[in-house]
Amino acid sequence: MSKPEKLIVDGKRLDGRGPFDLRPIKFQAGVLKRADGSCYLEFGGNKVMAAVYGPREVHPRHLQQASNAIVRYRYNMASFSVEERKRPGPDRRSIEISKVSREALESVVLKELYPRSAIDIFVEILQADAGTRVAGINAASVALADAGIPMKCLVSACAVGKADDTIVLDLNKDEDNYGQADLPIAMNQFGEITLCQMDGHLTSDEFSTAMNMAIEGCKKLHELQKQALVEKYARGVAPIAVDVPEAGGETNE
Ligand code: ADP
Repeated sequence: MSKPEKLIVDGKRLDGRGPFDLRPIKFQAGVLKRADGSCYLEFGGNKVMAAVYGPREVHPRHLQQASNAIVRYRYNMASFSVEERKRPGPDRRSIEISKVSREALESVVLKELYPRSAIDIFVEILQADAGTRVAGINAASVALADAGIPMKCLVSACAVGKADDTIVLDLNKDEDNYGQADLPIAMNQFGEITLCQMDGHLTSDEFSTAMNMAIEGCKKLHELQKQALVEKYARGVAPIAVDVPEAGGETNE
């Protein structure tokens, strides 16, 4: 993909958004039968599946903690998720993303309720389009709640950055590749920041503006996450249709 001449034209970004706009977002909770909790998320062109297992026994056992559950997070990019086939398996980038994403979520999990056990989070990036780590955190947070893991609150995440000297929310692929700065942020419901990374350069004023935009973005994501969980439970308690034979009809007896 070649570098576009401009990333912002007449105040609009190349995908038609204004600087404060998020891409279209769709969460679906409880999509996997065999996981304790799950969430499928489309975030712009990103397609992400998160699955949560646990609390369950820790293997290998020497990793057990006597007074806490351990939280493990595996971020994986499918080889077909990017334009050129990605070599399968972990690499430095996925190990780093797994670590920071685990840290972003761990502080809201009530780990002390499950000593000697593990809570495993798997995030599979099926299609990547910039912002996969924040998409993974959003989906994982819903999957944890769907698994019934006790948490203080949800964690929401979005990136903010700078392109063509403008601070923009939720970077697209061109802005991520050719922009001047990229800041993935995660925040819990109490406004505490649980992930803050930065590539590129921002002045301190730009940094404050960017943080405020990211906080607003996280608040919108939080509403969508809650909605996905409410929808899942509304589905769960929907009355089951039962075929009742009509009165006076034939029976098989
Ligand atoms: P994030 O996905 O959290 O923004 P990066 O900034 O590392 O993380 O990556 C930006 C984007 O670059 C990814 O979303 C993906 O679209 C692309 N990308 C990352 N790794 C690869 C890779 N190995 N091959 C091709 N594209 C990749």
